[in-house]
Amino acid sequence: MSYMVSIVGRPNVGKSTLFNRLVGRRKAIVHVKSGVTRDRIYGKSEWNGVHFSLVDTGGYNPSHNNLLDAEIIKQILIAIKEADVILFLVDIKIGILDTDIEISQLLRKHKKSILLVVNKVDNGKYMYHNTDFFRLGFREYYYISAINGSGTGELLDRLIEILKALGRKEIVEKEVIPRISVIGRPNVGKSTLINSFLEKNHHIVTNVSGTTRDSLDVLCKKWGYKCILVDTPGVRKKSKISESLEFYSTMRTVKSIEYTDICLLMVDAVRGWEAQDRNIFRLVEKNQKGIIILINKWDLLNPGKNCSIQKNFEIFIRKKIAPFDNVPILFISAKNKDGIYNILPIADQIFQIRKKRLKTNLLNRVMLPIFQKNPPPSVQKKLITIKYCTQLPTSTPKFIFFSNFPHYIKESYKRFIENKIRDHFDFRGVPIQIFFRKK
Ligand code: GDP
Ligand code: GDP
Repeated sequence: MSYMVSIVGRPNVGKSTLFNRLVGRRKAIVHVKSGVTRDRIYGKSEWNGVHFSLVDTGGYNPSHNNLLDAEIIKQILIAIKEADVILFLVDIKIGILDTDIEISQLLRKHKKSILLVVNKVDNGKYMYHNTDFFRLGFREYYYISAINGSGTGELLDRLIEILKALGRKEIVEKEVIPRISVIGRPNVGKSTLINSFLEKNHHIVTNVSGTTRDSLDVLCKKWGYKCILVDTPGVRKKSKISESLEFYSTMRTVKSIEYTDICLLMVDAVRGWEAQDRNIFRLVEKNQKGIIILINKWDLLNPGKNCSIQKNFEIFIRKKIAPFDNVPILFISAKNKDGIYNILPIADQIFQIRKKRLKTNLLNRVMLPIFQKNPPPSVQKKLITIKYCTQLPTSTPKFIFFSNFPHYIKESYKRFIENKIRDHFDFRGVPIQIFFRKK
């Protein structure tokens, strides 16, 4: 299910505090850009079984003062356009400033679901003393404390009620044609690659089953392979807001990943593997999508026959993405059409691998001896054993391991299991999930 929620408000009202509370620090995807105070801007959250992407605006506010600079206004406009619901934060302690009014005017011009969230109500007494925010004229408002969490349950209950009412259905996984999106930072070469995939008369797929969205999907037939290119830039109508704006590109990426089976993550060979590339990679992994890494602009490095540069580059990236490290990494030049012919066949393989279901007896035959030889480290003198495992009948690979003390099994052992599964079975380019249950 794909929903998008945005947090909007002037600086210092508590947006990033709320964001961290809803996403959870560990789960948040760190967004690093030099000279910027904010470092987390998007992540996934869930409430009562409804999952949504959460985007925090103001992430690129260089001044972080109380002025609404042009950059923040741009981000708010993007958030209004892209999000399903907007959480508009104000600060009960400071009260309503001109900048809050300015934002509320921007928001009210558009027909979007907006919940006014009055933050910093750490203590019930404020609620009754400050009614300043009524001036903003929103019908629905919620009192919360982003710091101690009070009121957030009620806010989330209402939020998911609105999301559910959108009636968006899950994309049917029976599809036989892989859905592919080309993602990566602005200027990495996405449009160049996509153009090389498309013939003059490509077909625009408008009616995706059960979904309503404004992006354009294109049916691509090339070199004997078929795929649907999801949310294709260049084909999509350019918005008034600059395409190269990093925030916009991030928001589109978050959205298009959700409608995809396989992501082609393009990385700039000259810039190397940067924090932003890793963030996008983790986002794809969290969304359980297949992935191929394309190191583009390889022509500019002009390595000639020197394969060691390529090998070292590859080793470096694999270290960074472990334990999910058996991802195809291709070195290409989208501009010269070098190395691009392998992409669709590999994507097709990954599409099949992602749907693969291992037989339970085979899985146990391979894994149980491993657990006997290397059992989870015992905790408080308790011997931890894993007796049985099975792959769930889900659309992406999920494994359950039954243990006498599932809670004591550490993250490091989970990584060990993932490595072993990847060693023994082919899950190239496909994220896997591992759960422990009480036996
Ligand atoms: P942003 O600029 O809107 O992202 O605001 P931040 O999340 O960085 O918060 C600004 C300041 O307000 C920080 O010092 C937070 O600790 C504080 N803050 C955020 N939420 C609350 C809250 O619920 N209660 C109180 N008392 N302070 C809060
Ligand atoms: P996008 O913003 O990711 O869609 O990037 P574009 O496809 O618009 O490419 C950005 C710039 O990089 C353009 O000037 C392209 O010509 C250039 N470019 C793209 N792929 C390559 C490549 O493989 N090699 C070189 N040298 N330049 C490339």
